[in-house]
Amino acid sequence: MLNPQDRVFQNLHGQDDAFLEGALKRGSWSNTKEILSKDQNEVIELVKSSQLRGRGGAGFSTGLKWSFMPKDTGKQHYLVVNADESEPGTCKDREIIRNDPHMLIEGCLIASYAIQATKCYIYIRGEYHFEYLQLEKAIQEAYDKNLIGKNACGSGFNFDLYVHRGAGAYICGEETALLESLEGKKGQPRLKPPFPAGVGLYGMPTTINNVESIAVVPTILRRGPEWFKAIGRENNTGTKIFCISGNVNNPCTVEEEMGIPLKDLIEKHAGGVEGGWDNLKAIIPGGSSTPMLAKDVCETVLMNFDDLRAYGSGLGTAGVIVVNKNNNITEVIERFAHFYKHESCGQCTPCREGTGWMFRMMQKLVRGEISPEQIELLENVTKQVEGHTICALGDAAAWPIQGLIKNFKSELIKNYKKKLKAS
Ligand code: SF4
Repeated sequence: MLNPQDRVFQNLHGQDDAFLEGALKRGSWSNTKEILSKDQNEVIELVKSSQLRGRGGAGFSTGLKWSFMPKDTGKQHYLVVNADESEPGTCKDREIIRNDPHMLIEGCLIASYAIQATKCYIYIRGEYHFEYLQLEKAIQEAYDKNLIGKNACGSGFNFDLYVHRGAGAYICGEETALLESLEGKKGQPRLKPPFPAGVGLYGMPTTINNVESIAVVPTILRRGPEWFKAIGRENNTGTKIFCISGNVNNPCTVEEEMGIPLKDLIEKHAGGVEGGWDNLKAIIPGGSSTPMLAKDVCETVLMNFDDLRAYGSGLGTAGVIVVNKNNNITEVIERFAHFYKHESCGQCTPCREGTGWMFRMMQKLVRGEISPEQIELLENVTKQVEGHTICALGDAAAWPIQGLIKNFKSELIKNYKKKLKAS
């Protein structure tokens, strides 16, 4: 369990003032000038040594990502913050933006300084209207107090921050589609390479980070990387915001130690599974795209990058979706399949055709109309989509179905036989 004194997000639930006065009391902006007086490489090294891994899904080292930015190019560098939080089951960045926006703004300033970016864009999903207003108000406060802008915090560093609203497409959360959208084009992922650190926004060197990854940086630099590293385990360090939804008694968003046992997370924070732990069917641990975990795995698995990967799933966005036995797990996955079909940008064939085909098969699976051979075919097709597309949406559409078949194949076959007998 996380010690209260190690909590990074002190106003996650909006119990206190969200704006500058409250943020100053919570310690934001307290020694920003001093942080900005450090060498840029030193800031990157400190973040690297904290072992902070990106909180948006991929779990890549944040400091290492910053170090990929070219130095002293003479070009405009950009930091782009991905606030397009659209993964079903995920609502962590929303809480940071609406309840403690100065944590994000200060993080943007420091991260931009480290990568020599004098301009930063926060790309926020269009549906987050209230959060957009909160953010704009806080940014204005920061400009008024000269915390950002020319000579930000008296550091000599000039920094501008802009907010850009998306229009509700899930795919714009993919970093290169986000850049396309920000440039005013259709939000479709780019082929990589080139990577954004070389050719990013408007063709310039760009780093794209998630809201939570950036918002946690000022606290790491204030309290030191050793403090952050002491929470959690090697390579899975620090605190993490988890969003718990579905069949639990108390759906919630909570900050906890990285690597808390999944069962503890559900029992201690979400009031347990509806109908009790024995009524648990499966848990999707990291947003809709991560493969589900069967009950026996949920008993012991730790909520960190490496342990979840060892069980064939992933931490993803840490959007934990709990499904109990009162629900039809096949219907849950069918719903996800519809979502991914709807959100496919249509650019590459395995995803454009595959997501539609997989959804239609999932509809039949729900009705018990798929034979064991066809279940195998469905699984095969998911593997042909996975890893054969421009962006990870293809994988995201394939993994939930793979997880269903892996864990509940015998049940799916039983349903088919039952239906056959009845017809
Ligand atoms: Fe578009 Fe899907 Fe291809 Fe991604 S995988 S580029 S969403 S068609």
